[in-house]
Amino acid sequence: TRLTPSSTTTSICGYCATGCQLKLHLDEEGNAINLSPQANYPVNLGMACPKGWQALDPLTATDRGTVPLLRDPATGRRQPVDWNTAIATFTDRLKGIQQTHGRDAAAFLSTGQIPFEEMAFLGLLWKSGMGFLHGDANTRQCMATAVTAYKQSFGFDAPPYTYADFEESDVIILSGANLAIAHPILWQRIMRNKRSPEIIVIDPRATETAQAATVHLPIKPKGDLALYYALAHCIIRDGRIDYDAIKNTEGFDDFAAFVQHRTPEQAAHQTGLEAATIEKVARLVSEPGKRVSWWWTMGINQSYEGVRAAQAMINLALITGNIGKPGTGANSITGQCNAMGSRLFSNTTSLVGGHDFANEDHRNKVSVGLGIPIEQITSDPSLAYDEILRAAEDGKIKALWVVATNPFHSWINSGRLSALREKLDFLVVQDMYHSTESAEIADLYLPAAGWGEKTGCLINSERRLAPIRPVRKAPGQALTDFRIFRLLAQSWGCGGMFQQWTDPEAAFKLLRDLTQGRPCDITGIRDYDHLDESGGIQWPYPESDADPHPSAERRLFESGQFYHPDGKARLLFSAPAPLPEPTDDEFSFTLLTGRGTSSQWHTQTRTGKSDILRKLYPAQAYVEIHPRDARRLGILNNQVITVRSRRGSMKASAYLAPTVQPGQLFLPMHYPEVNRLTHPSFDKHSRQPNYKACAARLEV
Ligand code: SF4
Repeated sequence: TRLTPSSTTTSICGYCATGCQLKLHLDEEGNAINLSPQANYPVNLGMACPKGWQALDPLTATDRGTVPLLRDPATGRRQPVDWNTAIATFTDRLKGIQQTHGRDAAAFLSTGQIPFEEMAFLGLLWKSGMGFLHGDANTRQCMATAVTAYKQSFGFDAPPYTYADFEESDVIILSGANLAIAHPILWQRIMRNKRSPEIIVIDPRATETAQAATVHLPIKPKGDLALYYALAHCIIRDGRIDYDAIKNTEGFDDFAAFVQHRTPEQAAHQTGLEAATIEKVARLVSEPGKRVSWWWTMGINQSYEGVRAAQAMINLALITGNIGKPGTGANSITGQCNAMGSRLFSNTTSLVGGHDFANEDHRNKVSVGLGIPIEQITSDPSLAYDEILRAAEDGKIKALWVVATNPFHSWINSGRLSALREKLDFLVVQDMYHSTESAEIADLYLPAAGWGEKTGCLINSERRLAPIRPVRKAPGQALTDFRIFRLLAQSWGCGGMFQQWTDPEAAFKLLRDLTQGRPCDITGIRDYDHLDESGGIQWPYPESDADPHPSAERRLFESGQFYHPDGKARLLFSAPAPLPEPTDDEFSFTLLTGRGTSSQWHTQTRTGKSDILRKLYPAQAYVEIHPRDARRLGILNNQVITVRSRRGSMKASAYLAPTVQPGQLFLPMHYPEVNRLTHPSFDKHSRQPNYKACAARLEV
């Protein structure tokens, strides 16, 4: 019968970067009929969150793209076309734009949601094969801050931890991280900690995680940097530093001088916390003999000064000797299932395989390793995501190719993008669904297979590589992204460059060999089966010291050596800046945004297709308001009101709860209207958007 599986395969979940392994139970034809979490996988230990349990639902949605669609300029309507027409149209239009306007006149926007073999194919095809310059990934919206912070501080984008650190810490500090719903399995890893840890949550909201913490610091929005510097002030003042660990850093004296006058009393004003509380936390995070770990997610990353905030935590971990040992670390928890794959392989900010575009030796190595003529590997940097969109707005970029992402919902201040659409000569969207906000306005829509319909590798937050497997055929004429890239390469005339890219595993082996000698060296991994047999493998895993049965948990910097040429980590800092858009009489609330539930993922493109997941989350957008503010404005619970910023407005149902502080509002990011309100400010080091705090008002 249909519910009795014939066989079982495994795959990593395709939503968040926790990287849970799922067992997919198959019928006689190899189609998945149900799933269960893998019990002996070192990440999830038999657990999955609601999204993982329902991972098969989105594959059978009625709005799956089954055929390419091309917009008829005469009628403005999208018409089905065959793949030959779709591919030829892509090539003709993009070649025409390139010939007329040059290599700067088009860009791709990709994703952290597809296997890294596909990301690498896209980035190399676009830049080396087709000869364009600009491309960026939606990891700019989630991880760019952490990438930049790690690169500057450690010399490479290297999250140092392993998930076992959650269970081995004595003090766990979660900053801007609502793990209980955003990373529920990682929260369960904390719950398994037998050391009775102190759990300190730094967050303006009384989130689900904050309510379960031993200490909640309800900090003023973006008061975090001032808090970290005051903690460093107390720790250095009291001599609670690790003098041996400081020998492995550069810049301690300057940092100590910088924080000398950043007292708890001064920080009290900037953070809204009492000075005595800051002193107490400083003692907790520098207790001799205690293992202290610092963790952050989007509350830090999506900020106008996110890089410095991340580095302030890195500094605290470094000066207290809390790096490279069990239960420690300054640890960014990634958002998307393959954000790290994008960071290392998408050929956007870094040259593929963890290399630098500006480094001639690296370009030569990639040229030889992949058989790409050196003159076709540019040393010029791409524009960042926001710069690409601004160039499109200015008419300099004429075409966009959007792959497995949905910027017309997710980009900050999204209302401006409709004007941008008018400026574009050609918009291509390649996605599982023809119905996303971005796909619906495309000139050319290419139907793509999704997770569950293809193979490839993902890299999770703790640097663990593991494969995904196909468990059903993609609907209609939908093709894997890998196959679409092959067709486009042939059509463009650069197919010879990718002759060896016959399938994802062949590409994996090429990319694996390319990492030799880099911090992310994975040359010891034999093939996908090796990854499966090993429960995934964390990088680095070089061939030279590859144990055929790698231990389940591996962390970085155990030797005290970092990736800068002198082996030392850098202590980096700068003075906190004011909010880009402070409140005033007209817009008197600070609007916070974030994840609202464990049952929905980002723009709901996939999770919104599941009947069960929809039942776990309200369809109507809601806004959290403190009851005191609601009383003052005469707003009742569930009353539909307008939330407005200087950029746009949306209707939302009022949810009165003391989870937000008076003067603050919270909107979950899953609703498409939310980004009409957000303020387009950016971290100057990482170009990551500042989604988290803008000025807004309520209208009844
Ligand atoms: Fe695990 Fe994340 Fe998938 Fe949930 S969404 S099952 S936490 S990988």
